Parts: sequence; structure tokens; C-alpha cells
Amino acid sequence: MRLSRYFLPTLREDPAEAEVVSHKLMLRAGMIRKLASGIYSYLPLGLRALRKVENIVREEMNRAGAQEVLLPLVQPAELWQETGRWKDYGKELLRFRDRKKHDFCLGPTHEEVITDLVRREVRSYRDLPLILYQIAPKFRDEIRPRFGIMRAREFIMKDAYSFDADEEGLDRSYARMYEAYERIFTRCGLRFRAVLADTGAIGGSESHEFMVLAETGEDRLAICEACGYAANVELAEGRSRFTYPDEEERPLEKVSTPGVKSVEEVAAFLGVPPSRLVKTLLFKAEGQVVAVLIRGDLELNEVKLRNLLGVAEVEMADPETVERLTGAPVGFAGPVGLSGVRILADLSVKGLRNFVTGANEADAHYVNVNYGRDFPEPEFHDLRVVTEGDPCPRCGRPLSITRGIEVGHVFKLGTKYSSAMRATFLDREGRERPIIMGCYGIGIGRTVAAAIEQNHDEAGIIFPREIAPFEAVILTLGPESDLMEASERIYRELSGAGVEVLWDDRDERPGVKFKDADLIGIPYQIIVGRRFRETGEVELKERATGRRENLSPETLARKLAEGK
Ligand code: ATP
Ligand code: MG
Repeated sequence: MRLSRYFLPTLREDPAEAEVVSHKLMLRAGMIRKLASGIYSYLPLGLRALRKVENIVREEMNRAGAQEVLLPLVQPAELWQETGRWKDYGKELLRFRDRKKHDFCLGPTHEEVITDLVRREVRSYRDLPLILYQIAPKFRDEIRPRFGIMRAREFIMKDAYSFDADEEGLDRSYARMYEAYERIFTRCGLRFRAVLADTGAIGGSESHEFMVLAETGEDRLAICEACGYAANVELAEGRSRFTYPDEEERPLEKVSTPGVKSVEEVAAFLGVPPSRLVKTLLFKAEGQVVAVLIRGDLELNEVKLRNLLGVAEVEMADPETVERLTGAPVGFAGPVGLSGVRILADLSVKGLRNFVTGANEADAHYVNVNYGRDFPEPEFHDLRVVTEGDPCPRCGRPLSITRGIEVGHVFKLGTKYSSAMRATFLDREGRERPIIMGCYGIGIGRTVAAAIEQNHDEAGIIFPREIAPFEAVILTLGPESDLMEASERIYRELSGAGVEVLWDDRDERPGVKFKDADLIGIPYQIIVGRRFRETGEVELKERATGRRENLSPETLARKLAEGK
């Protein structure tokens, strides 16, 4: 491809809208452009990288015995009503009506559609096992689309679904997909880790997320280097590591705390550490309101709360609800005198004595609060986010916390969808049984973005070779005909040898060419300049290491074509 004719609009400056480096670089390198919030177009360079990842995924899925299909994005409401998700899925499901007044949605995932397909065709245990997959757009009306294509509303996903006759079959399908994922992300040149993941309201017995390790990741991972335990903190169990001295209960006291609200402010005002404070958080969960008590220095884990309550979603109570229940504005809730609300507490509160809480009154707090005496003993559960140094739930050694980007997710579904939608088969004995399912997703665009998060420097992207849009770029440092002719020869020769090569044949200054080449991150730069005229050699620069060597065009072609 000649750059002079290539649609590659690069930007010199960082776009203001982009927070993370992959988003900035994908915009600057002319890979993507925004159409609307969370909705992006892929330009030629971006599409090439996307296709590279897609092809790796396709090859590994096929190798694992999965068969490719293509399912519709537009899905009828009836299917979603069968599983109850028309109601339960929430606002991420974009619903609409056609001219005949039939309800539809844009598919955020395809369990319903694939289960419908399979229930119509699969009859007998002889038709199983079966793994089907597709690589296609999804739509989720994400509450906070951000980071470009990393958390988009419209995005490309590979989703696979396995169908087995029994649990052992599911275990085998799951293992196959898990191994395929390891090969995929290794081939993409990523540093990643599979971690235990929450199975949440969907139920299911086992789940792993594949996390690309990166500081900018939205997920936090709890990792034990000693025994290899690795889990999303959403799930990681927080064993109680808090023991408190046996303190005498002191008299309850109300203190005036004018304008002092946050944990840090209250702690500083009262001259106590934040661990002496107990926060009272009010949540709405499918119609009910619950109060959750947790120590001031710890963070509540909403996923654990959701699972404990058995609901699909929890949200912080709105200010009106808080005022109605506590009689005070937000920031002063407390368990003393709080009635009509179920009170839960994290294990960190168990055994804590003489603590500080809000007084359900503006500008007031209670000190020396004790459960059992000042309010009924709450229900204790593990409800906090584990932190660095917490004991590993498996071996007890300290956990470390790192960040990751979830690029893939594998999930044992069991019979949730097949039971709801009556997707059954006849077993060897002729009995009708629900098919046992698994589902397996990979965010294709997110994988490209995650690769950039991990592989870049100040000058731009450094693509791992397997997913680079091109393998090499020729930079011709001048318009003179001898340089242009030599470049064209190299271009033809490399293309002929199967090397994907871009030729910067533009009438631009060398500085501009170097900058753009570094920005777009092609692994090899071939520089045809003054040296060529003097010695007949070109310079080969490796983008990742900056290593340079001088070679004859013939040696160069041989070197780059190696392994083709
Ligand atoms: P997240 O927790 O990040 O929202 P999820 O658990 O909703 O992800 P899944 O339903 O498991 O994601 O989807 C499978 C894969 O699709 C994810 O592992 C991720 O790579 C990708 N993905 C999910 N949501 C988005 C999105 N909004 N934009 C881009 N990719 C996404
Ligand atoms: Mg999501």
C-alpha cells in the first residue's frame, strides 16, 4: 500500500476527549473515529489490526473444533421474554419497535438466539457436543462509554456457545475454550492472566476472565504469588483479618460535626483513625432498601452485595430515599435508631467497639457506638473489596492487587437457558434432558486497544508483529528518482514474498515520515536515504527496540520473509 493514497489521517496532538493512551494513540494513528458516544468507525489501519486479531481468534476457534456462524444483531423480544431477560437485563438492552409494533432489541449477547437455533435442530445425544461461534457486532447501551473502543456501545465480539449432554462434556468444552484463549492471547503478544470470575446473578458453576495486565485496567485482580490463586476482586473472598482488643463499652455520645461529611473529614475532626468510623451505606435492590455497615477505611464490594441479596442490580439510594429513611441529608446516616431497613454489616465490623457513625441528623455524629447495645446486632457477611496484604483465601499468604483489562470471559452456564427455553435432547435411554451449555466471549476491539495499552512509548504504538496492521513500512527520504525506484523495487519484492508492507512515498520531510512511522507502530521501518545512494544499502529499524542495521535490499527481503 502506498501511503500517498492511503486513508490515514494522523494527528500531531493528543485529542482532548481521550483519557487513556490506547484511545489517544488509536485516534492519533488514524485507526478509529468517533461517530457518537461509544460508537466508532474503523479506518483502514484500524480495521487491519482488528482483522489480525479476528483471524487469530478464528483460527484458534476452528482448531478447537468450534464452527463459525453469523447470528442477527436485531433480536425479537419474545426470545428474551422466554428467559426473563427482557425485564432483567436493564438499560444496557436497547429496545425498539418495528412498523408492525413488534418489540425488538439490539443483541448485547446471543444466548437466546443461539439456544433458539439449537433447540430447533438438535434432537439426540448424537448431535452433541457442539460448539458454535460468531465474530460480529454487539450493542450495549453502556452507562459510561469510555476509553474509545475499549468500552464502547457498539463493538465487535467473538462469542461462542457450547452444547453438551452432561457435566463432563461441559468440562471438556470449557477446557478446550480455556486453552484456545491461552493460545489466542499468547499469539496476540499480550501479557495476560486468567482469573476466577464472578458468576453472579446468571448462576453457573465456574467462570474465568482473561485479563491483560495494565495499570489503566478497570478491573482489580487479587493475586497470590505463593499458591497461584488469582481472582477478580469482585469475587475474592475477604477473610476477616481483623481482631480487636476487648474494649469496655463507653457511653454513647452525640457530637456536633458541622459541615463535616467524608470519612477523612470526620476522622480528622474527631481525631480518630478512619478505621474507627463505620460507614452506613444505603442501597436500593429491586424495590427493597438495605443498609450496609462497613469500616471507614474499607471499600464495599457491590458484586458481593448483589450476590448476597440474589438480585441482578444494586444501586446507591438516591438523596430523597436517604432523607426519607434517616431524616437527614446524605452523609449522616447511621444505624442507631434506623428502622424499617434491613441492616447488613461487613465482617470488619464484627468485634469492633466504640466506633463512630452518622447520627441520622444533619451535622451530627455518634461516638462510642456499640451494636447489641445501641442498635440490634446486624447480619455479618463478607462484603468488602479485598486489599493488598489481605490473606489469600486458599493459602493464607498475603495477596497483591494489580489491574487488568478484561479481554475474554469463559463461563459454565449449565441449564439456565436450555431449561428456560426448553432446549432438550434425547439421551441414550431415550429420556428428554436439557442441554448443558457454556458461553465464551472475546472483545476483539478491546483486545487491540489492550495490546496498545501494553505496547507503546512516547512516540506512539509498538504493535506486536502478529497483530500489526502492516509488518514493515518503507520510508523514502527524498523525491529523487533513484530513491523512489529502489523503494519501489523493495516494495514489490517484499509484497511478492508475502510481507505486508506500507510504502511512505509521500512528498514529505524525513522528520514527518519518521514521526508518522513511529506513531503507527509498524514493527519494521525500512529507510531508503542518502546511505543507499552511497553504499547501496538500506537501513532496517526495529520499532520495539530501536535497533538499526544496514543491509542490502536482497538480504533485507530474505530477512523479513523468513518464517513466511
Ligand atoms: P465488562 O465487565 O468489561 O463490562 P462484561 O463482563 O460485560 O465486561 P462479557 O459480557 O463477558 O463482558 O463480554 C465478553 C467480552 O466482550 C468481554 O470480555 C470484553 O472483552 C468484551 N466487551 C464487553 N463489553 C464491552 C464494551 N462495552 N466494549 C468493548 N468490549 C466489550
Ligand atoms: Mg459489561
